[in-house]
Amino acid sequence: MPADASFLFESGQFVLISLPEEPEKARAFSIVSSPLESGFIEITVEAREDVSRRICSLTGGETLLVAPPQGKWKFREEDKHAAFVTRGSGIAPFRSMIRYALEKGLPNRIDLFYEAPIPSAIPYRRELAEFADQGIGIHLSLTHSDDLTMDNEAPWEGETGEWTVPMIRKRLSDFKKTAFYMCGSGKQIDALVPKLLKSGIPQERILAEKWGDY
Ligand SMILES: Cc1cc2nc3c(=O)[nH]c(=O)nc-3n(C[C@H](O)[C@H](O)[C@H](O)COP(=O)(O)OP(=O)(O)OC[C@H]3O[C@@H](n4cnc5c(N)ncnc54)[C@H](O)[C@@H]3O)c2cc1C
Repeated sequence: MPADASFLFESGQFVLISLPEEPEKARAFSIVSSPLESGFIEITVEAREDVSRRICSLTGGETLLVAPPQGKWKFREEDKHAAFVTRGSGIAPFRSMIRYALEKGLPNRIDLFYEAPIPSAIPYRRELAEFADQGIGIHLSLTHSDDLTMDNEAPWEGETGEWTVPMIRKRLSDFKKTAFYMCGSGKQIDALVPKLLKSGIPQERILAEKWGDY
């Protein structure tokens, strides 16, 4: 990014990025840095297929085409208790929201519910532990029960299986007053949203942004 450039954005927004040789193939990537950090933006790219794989194979110094931040799915400071539920690269915008809330010293309570197949697939492991030390509720679950050892071979003592509404509810003292943010996997969103509604969470406190039907 040029030294004098700055991006104004809100946590939850994304940028459209393409490679200069194929500007027509733009892909959306959520901004993972905080809006309070100026002069740069950070993104997290999961190597999937076409463009994402090629972005992941860049070594540094290359030029990318980046369109200005956009998106209406954003963190609402009026949500005094927010639960973020996601898997895979869906963690990206939540990293921005958590960093923003901590840097700004917001009083909002935040819980992150994240699921990954195996421990090594959990991104930002050290940072998540730091967030937990600063009062963010970090709840991790592993979905591939055949490999539950940590990198250091210690047994996994956390939750297992995909997050369900009863599992989430058990961990939230004010479940009925919580705002639920979800993004990424359409399958996870489609499975959880009807159950949240059935549990009495009003539609206006469910903020879901599907990235695809995977
Ligand atoms: C608003 C928004 C924000 C996004 N933010 C991010 C982000 O922060 N980080 C990120 O890595 N991706 C993000 N994505 C997904 C990203 O835009 C691309 O869709 C993804 O990188 C695949 O592009 P591709 O060219 O490699 O694959 P394509 O050749 O376009 O093939 C896409 C295939 O991958 C599947 N797919 C797409 N995205 C994912 C995913 N994240 N996980 C699993 N399967 C997927 C699709 O269902 C499809 O089968 C976001 C998407 C949206 C709509």
